[in-house]
Amino acid sequence: MALPCARKSKRMERIVVLDFGGQYNQLIARRVREAGVYSELLPHTALIDQIRGEALSGVILTGGPDSVYAENAKTCDEAVFSLGAPVLGICYGMQYIAKVMGGTIRAADVREYGRTAVRMERHPLLDGLDSGIVWMNHNDSVSLCPPGFVPIASTDACPVAAFANDARRLYGIQFHAEVAHTPKGNLIFLNFLKNICGLKCDYTPAGLADSLIEEVRGKVGSARVLGALSGGVDSSVASVLVHRAVGERLTCIFVDHGLLRLNEAEEVLAFYRDKLNLNIISVDARRRFLDRLAGVTEPERKRKIIGEEFIRVFEEEAKKLGGAEWLLQGTIYPDIIESGTATGAKIKSHHNVGGLPETVGFKGIVEPLRMLFKDEVRALGESLGIAHGLVWRQPFPGPGLAIRVIGEITEDKLGILRKSDYILRSELAAAGLAQKVWQYFTVFTGIQTVGVMGDLRTYDYVIGVRAVTSTDAMTVEWAELPYPVLRRVSERIIGEVPHVNRVVYDITSKPPGTIEWE
Ligand code: GLN
Repeated sequence: MALPCARKSKRMERIVVLDFGGQYNQLIARRVREAGVYSELLPHTALIDQIRGEALSGVILTGGPDSVYAENAKTCDEAVFSLGAPVLGICYGMQYIAKVMGGTIRAADVREYGRTAVRMERHPLLDGLDSGIVWMNHNDSVSLCPPGFVPIASTDACPVAAFANDARRLYGIQFHAEVAHTPKGNLIFLNFLKNICGLKCDYTPAGLADSLIEEVRGKVGSARVLGALSGGVDSSVASVLVHRAVGERLTCIFVDHGLLRLNEAEEVLAFYRDKLNLNIISVDARRRFLDRLAGVTEPERKRKIIGEEFIRVFEEEAKKLGGAEWLLQGTIYPDIIESGTATGAKIKSHHNVGGLPETVGFKGIVEPLRMLFKDEVRALGESLGIAHGLVWRQPFPGPGLAIRVIGEITEDKLGILRKSDYILRSELAAAGLAQKVWQYFTVFTGIQTVGVMGDLRTYDYVIGVRAVTSTDAMTVEWAELPYPVLRRVSERIIGEVPHVNRVVYDITSKPPGTIEWE
């Protein structure tokens, strides 16, 4: 996968990231790029000549879902360990180095996910880092270092949380330095690149907006583009970008699928008309989406139906316009990796990737943001001059409320969900938290419990409240909302929304949870 705006030159510094199927692999490539070195993500099956390339300064082996002793566990050409370039393994990558070099790996007694306290030794790889918190996501760990390796970090449950073999320049970390939730994790990449690989780290990518606009022009030529606009950050930034590239040949479609939040369609359209100079057609498709979703309970089915129905609406609109050859989508990297790739496990089918139908009536799909993370998209949006309030809207999934009603979707349930969600949003805004918390919403759990209201027995629904903090959605923590805010939210939801008699707060991070419940 090529990185956005990557420019190669002779005798450059180059890091190869070998993909073993982890969720954070593109994030690793991004960290290396941010640290100032060109990097390429290659599959674990890459040939050694491809890895060596014109120049090779170091190799990073990513995490992955396998266990190293499993029958079909992913491997790479072991010649990477004798190319002379330093190798850093992360999580599965570390376990794989341990296995190849003669160490022992076993399923840990305590699986570690999320924030974990670590003790660090002094080592050039860990310069500037102190014992503290790192982000873990594993079931297995190295129980015995291979000969020639020494442990350089440990946690209570994981005696070898990092190891080093300085003579052979092979290193491993069990924790995920690439995620935003490992404080100063970027220093590990900088240390690996500077202290271990001895690099100058002087790579600077060209202006992102300019190179993306060029790329879109090159791809669509003089054809017309239909933009799928949800009102969210990604599709808005993608539309403004493509508008710069093709001008009036872009027409945006906003689909009301009946799964939007309270007042959302009106607010989004008003905002677009006032602030962005785009051609927008709004389509009322509420009935057809809800009809197709009737009786469907399985989360993946819901996502697939919505993905397909979106495409059918876009095809029809393209026809009405007398044809548009390209469909623009605001897909970003987390949508791609979570939908499953050749190596990465499928977590959920994002409507715009894994949820796409097999046949699509367009010549092709344009996705200028497909290699970017949310925070990069926001920075790009700011650089394009898009209003701050739009760029910092909280993320909202394409399938909308469909994946927040657990089980079958009905108008009644959607009504309850909308009201409770609106209360949560108003209370967070009143507390000044609307933009401090990454994402917050309510969930219609479908569970009924017994309560007592006004001395009478009730048997009504449980609403779940979810609020998380994050920088890129790859890892999140549940937000420590102030108790008084939670109390108000609970009192108001039960007091104002009929058929709700209990409110619970979701205290699960990602991993092991995901942000949405479905
Ligand atoms: N599957 C391995 C484990 O559970 C590695 C996990 C990872 O790389 N995130 O330990």
